Amino acid sequence: MTSHKIHVKFPGRIVFIGFGSIGQGVLPLILRHIGTDASRITVVAPDERGSHVVQHFGVNFIKQAIKQDNLRSVLTPLVGEGDFVINVSVDVSSIDLIRFCRERGALYLDTCIEPWPGGYTDPSLPAARRTNYALRETALSLREGAADAPTAVLTHGANPGLVSHFVKQALLDIAADTGVAAGDPRTREEWAALAHTLGIKVIHIAERDTQVSPVRKRPGEFVNTWSVDGFVSEGCQPAELGWGSHERHFPADGNRYDFGRGSSIFLSQPGAATRVRTWTPRAGHFHGFLITHGEAISISDYLSVLDGDRVAYRPTVHYAYHPCDDAVLSVHEFAGRNFVMQDEQRILMDEINPGGIDELGVLLAGHGRNAYWYGSQLSIDEARALCPFNNATSLQVTVAVLAGVVWAMENPRRGVVEPDEMDFRRALEVCMPYLGPVVGAYTDWNPLQDRERLFPEELDREDPWQFLNIRVR
Ligand code: NAD
Repeated sequence: MTSHKIHVKFPGRIVFIGFGSIGQGVLPLILRHIGTDASRITVVAPDERGSHVVQHFGVNFIKQAIKQDNLRSVLTPLVGEGDFVINVSVDVSSIDLIRFCRERGALYLDTCIEPWPGGYTDPSLPAARRTNYALRETALSLREGAADAPTAVLTHGANPGLVSHFVKQALLDIAADTGVAAGDPRTREEWAALAHTLGIKVIHIAERDTQVSPVRKRPGEFVNTWSVDGFVSEGCQPAELGWGSHERHFPADGNRYDFGRGSSIFLSQPGAATRVRTWTPRAGHFHGFLITHGEAISISDYLSVLDGDRVAYRPTVHYAYHPCDDAVLSVHEFAGRNFVMQDEQRILMDEINPGGIDELGVLLAGHGRNAYWYGSQLSIDEARALCPFNNATSLQVTVAVLAGVVWAMENPRRGVVEPDEMDFRRALEVCMPYLGPVVGAYTDWNPLQDRERLFPEELDREDPWQFLNIRVR
């Protein structure tokens, strides 16, 4: 007998594409909270890195890399009407998988929009085409004429994913604390109007990971608390950010797009070489990497107030990521190698020391109470107690995958959907038991504080929340 709540019963088959740190951590949650059975679950991955987890739960395993030329032949026997594909791989095109699932009548979820190998880094592609913006535009174009296609949830991990729901909760909290009548926003326009009314200028996805292993990073090794391949790929993409309507200093290395919605910009340098100032409650203020992420683009687009073609309001939105300390050293070494990958890689899991946390949330700034952070402060110890085969970082992601899967099963004909368009209350309800302390905290910190202590800087003293002030140069 299980004491875990079954959120939804699912009679179809479930196929995992890829089974690394996220896939392995998702499986126990699916078996706990979805009415299914191990015999109906199949893992497809090119290596046996997760074989201990496969054996532990008795699910089916097919050792196979999915490539452009075998996607159909490998997956057709496994995926049909009413089944579910959970794509937690690297190097398998989300777009092609969504097309395939739609043809087969199957549901789909991923945690980032992956291209085929090279899509993030192929120097023969223009930089604008190596962005998450371009991948999102292609994914959203699949909506045309297919509003009631089988649900395909885009980018529903922690970030992108869960943080879109954090933003909505934070908007309601700030409204309540500043005496603004928020009502009960339901539509994109209503949420955007609320953010506008509150005067939110900036949204950081502010994350500080303090997990550490007793075996420290060695020279020539890339260490992280989740996918090394995933982190390195996104770190090599151009830095991308939703570009707010309050910004008055366009970056010298900034670029706008000549296609798509135009809500974000990219810088002519990789995210792994771009740093920004931010704040979380436990860490205080720190420098994080502005790594490109889907949520920077979708949230800024979602919260835009348009007046015809004119953008009346839009917040600046970007990631500000301080990964675990050994990952920072790994990025530093990687950049010094001119972005050529180290020979060894290690994802920290069982060996992590007690005591570290992944403090992951959203910092909404520029409103009547300056800045407000809302998010999860999950520790490694609590993550271990809550669910096997997870660390603090992965559990924030894997429970968000569970929430996305539950939502898709409950809403099976919604076509291509982004996290911002889902029911945030339902998603938070599913996630909360696994997030450790979830806190909201106001701060008087802003990026102008304590500046020019050593040298003069180019600053905009009239508005702290200009990207000019936030970027580390
Ligand atoms: P990982 O590197 O630990 O595992 C990747 C898996 O993909 C491995 O099992 C690998 O064998 C498999 N794979 C590689 N090539 C494949 C192919 N051709 N066919 C099938 N499988 C293949 O990565 P992870 O930490 O589990 O992350 C998985 C994905 O989730 C990545 O795309 C990552 O960017 C994304 N992610 C998203 C979030 C979020 O919050 N949204 C967080 C963490 C990871």
